[in-house]
Amino acid sequence: MSFTTPVIFKSEATMEIKVKNLAELELKATMAGVEYIDHGNGHLRLIGPVTINYYPASKNKTAYIQNTKKGFSNVTPERALQMCFEVPEANGVICKRRANSRKTRASLFKKIKNCHWCKAPLTLDTSTIEHIIPLARGGLEHHSNRTLSCPKCNHERGSEMPELVTYFEVK
Ligand SMILES: [Zn+2]
Repeated sequence: MSFTTPVIFKSEATMEIKVKNLAELELKATMAGVEYIDHGNGHLRLIGPVTINYYPASKNKTAYIQNTKKGFSNVTPERALQMCFEVPEANGVICKRRANSRKTRASLFKKIKNCHWCKAPLTLDTSTIEHIIPLARGGLEHHSNRTLSCPKCNHERGSEMPELVTYFEVK
């Protein structure tokens, strides 16, 4: 099998965004193409390529990478926005992979008919379960972290997240 043709979208965009304070976060997130949702109770959600749940008013100013158990303390608004574009570090704690069961795929296939990455049409038999945050990077075996991809994209992506190759330079 040859894998010379990259099939997964690779971003080469460069972003230079400075977030001075919390008041600026919504505007700067929007400029970076990140959806900003204020859930109230001090919970902000930043939906970018990676979704970050941010609690800037909490004692430890925590931020969590959605679909993982990874939490970080003393996170500045600028850092929270950067995290939307960063590949979570592999930490050696890997959620046990469930079997690539036909039942789970059938459930996903009701809604998803194309490869998440290359958009090629899938059949139930050609689909594979894909974890948005790879299990090797702390991604959870949870429905919100699952989608379907073709075997080629699944294989090429492995535990990397090439869709996040964005150079985020803070000025
Ligand atoms: Zn594909």
